[in-house]
Amino acid sequence: MNSFMNSETPPKKTSLVIDFVIVGGGLAGLGCAIALRRVGHRVQVLEADSGLNMQTSGGIRMPPNMSKILYHWGLHEQVQQIAFKSQAIDLQLFEKDELLGTHIWDEEMLQETRGEFVMARYCDLRKLLYDTAVALGAKILFNSHVKTIDPDARTVTLASGRVFHADVIVGADGSLGKTREIMEAETPQPHQLVMYSSTVPKKAVLQDKELRPLYDRTHRAMYAWFGYGRAVLAFPTGGDRDLGLYVYGPADGNEGQWEQPAPIEGMRRILETAEPRLRKLGALAKPPICVPVTDFPDLEDWVHDSGRMVIIGEAAHPMPPGAIQTIAMAVEDGAVLAKLFSHLRAEDQISNFLYAFEDLRHPRCTAVLKKEFGDIFFMTLPPGEMQEGRDAHFRAKRDAGESVLAGGEGETVEEWSEMKDIFGYDAEDEADDWWQEWGVLKEHAIGREIVESGASISSIVVQHQATSTGSIKKQQSTTRTKFSGGQPRLQF
Ligand SMILES: Cc1cc2nc3c(=O)[nH]c(=O)nc-3n(C[C@H](O)[C@H](O)[C@H](O)COP(=O)(O)OP(=O)(O)OC[C@H]3O[C@@H](n4cnc5c(N)ncnc54)[C@H](O)[C@@H]3O)c2cc1C
Repeated sequence: MNSFMNSETPPKKTSLVIDFVIVGGGLAGLGCAIALRRVGHRVQVLEADSGLNMQTSGGIRMPPNMSKILYHWGLHEQVQQIAFKSQAIDLQLFEKDELLGTHIWDEEMLQETRGEFVMARYCDLRKLLYDTAVALGAKILFNSHVKTIDPDARTVTLASGRVFHADVIVGADGSLGKTREIMEAETPQPHQLVMYSSTVPKKAVLQDKELRPLYDRTHRAMYAWFGYGRAVLAFPTGGDRDLGLYVYGPADGNEGQWEQPAPIEGMRRILETAEPRLRKLGALAKPPICVPVTDFPDLEDWVHDSGRMVIIGEAAHPMPPGAIQTIAMAVEDGAVLAKLFSHLRAEDQISNFLYAFEDLRHPRCTAVLKKEFGDIFFMTLPPGEMQEGRDAHFRAKRDAGESVLAGGEGETVEEWSEMKDIFGYDAEDEADDWWQEWGVLKEHAIGREIVESGASISSIVVQHQATSTGSIKKQQSTTRTKFSGGQPRLQF
């Protein structure tokens, strides 16, 4: 184990403790609750469900940029208990049993990112976040359906009539929640694609000699299958747990939400033309859920005009289901928000910090979103030049004995360098950088004295003036791109 993975640096605590009310206790809401409690704020989470919803649970994937946050929060051991660490990914064809190649995650690259590729069950991660948030003192109420939110009055009212007052309201109620509605989101457009999520019992996989290698590889791997309008991702979810299975295919009318079971026949129909192992997995799979792949129009504002409400996670930037960065983006949001609010010492900073959050997170999430749609497009390419080029590229790497996503000697592979950027990103460092570059400058401008870790604001400002070449707009330049079926750049 790398030493960084177990090292929890004691977080900087806020000087001014305020009340956050978080609407929604999904992964974004719970992650945010942990992060805010770590820096000393009071947190109330309101969740409509009656509990953690352990019944309908599929697999989730956590890339290095996310696992590093959990490790930084001191959860390395707990993550290891619920997760499976991936060392490689196999790329295969959907229709016929051909391995296009394997990519082995570069240890050096992972060291640099300070994280790992880990997979788990949704319910295990949610429970871990819930337990951690409660242990840190967050108050979490189930059966608390939020009916109305008044960001100007800073109140949140439950269906029961109970009213909660907040200094800041955090909307973490998902892509179809109330807070996104308040921010006047446009109507989303579903693609003609759905994703079924299921799990296959490990025991059943191990009993089948064709399927057993999915657990028995030299490198602990996850698996991707590429087909025309269809794709599959499979990955062990850790310990003795089942194989997570995502099946993408044409919309068939079965699409609903994560909590709703869908008919397994729909998933099996998508797999009818697949190579034998996939059909076997379909036959052994547990009842799935089916969610649409939806293009949510970009939401320009994540902060309400009152300056007292912000949206995070799927409420702010819904991602396609099964995307590798979906949950990571939600957890990064909470980490960044809390880092900013660790510097709170006066009420007039609140709205500035919320806008800083939006400025930091919006470009990052937009870039990641574009890439996620690119990945789905890439995996489901129709027959033709692009698909042939994709397959030929991987075969050549495979035959040369190389990791298929990496660049060869002297070669620059855009996908790979982009991947390193995404995985190497440190959300908490970004928030710290914002504070050092702009936060202290603003405090200085209004004559507020700050002493940070032995350095006075004056010395930080002098340092800033010496090193800064950009303008504050650097932090605000948001390229708000929508999905346009752009260039395929695979990240997994
Ligand atoms: C039950 C469930 C199971 C899931 N399973 C998987 C999985 O197996 N694999 C996977 O990759 N992704 C899964 N997801 C999706 C995944 O959690 C999200 O894609 C991503 O993590 C971002 O989460 P979020 O917290 O922003 O939004 P969400 O996960 O949508 O969470 C939003 C939360 O807000 C609550 N909420 C909504 N409206 C209100 C209201 N008015 N008042 C109070 N509470 C409200 C919801 O009940 C929900 O718990 C699941 C989501 C849910 C809700």
